[in-house]
Amino acid sequence: MSSKEIDEIVSDFSRFYILTILYEGPSHGYSIISKFKKRIGKEISPSLIYPFLKQLEQKGMVRYSLKPVGAKKKKVFELTKKGKELCTQLFKRFSALVSVAIEPTMSICANCGCKVYEGGYSEVIDNKKMAFCCVHCAESYKQERLEKH
Ligand SMILES: [Zn+2]
Repeated sequence: MSSKEIDEIVSDFSRFYILTILYEGPSHGYSIISKFKKRIGKEISPSLIYPFLKQLEQKGMVRYSLKPVGAKKKKVFELTKKGKELCTQLFKRFSALVSVAIEPTMSICANCGCKVYEGGYSEVIDNKKMAFCCVHCAESYKQERLEKH
């Protein structure tokens, strides 16, 4: 994958993330930039944010109002009803995509039946690799086996 391709994908992700920030509540451009940096750990270019906000505004997804910040007046952007609906749809799709990506690495604890993501405990019992959520579950699983036999 070329770095140009990666940049394109990341900028799509950035747009998606800008929407999640707006979904939380009204924000001015600068606070979108700083929230983005805080959570993603990467700078986001204003040349990506402002044209995107304008695009959303033209599509009726976002509106802005001028609010005084210190001595100046700044644009505070917020999602319209239409914009919120778009976000809800996007988030649903995205969570379906993410669960598809997570499921294969997930297993079920052989003892208590809870879902085990990364960081569970596994042990080979009777030549079979068994997954557990923790050491204690592995212990009580083995204990129960002993009692049954
Ligand atoms: Zn367990």
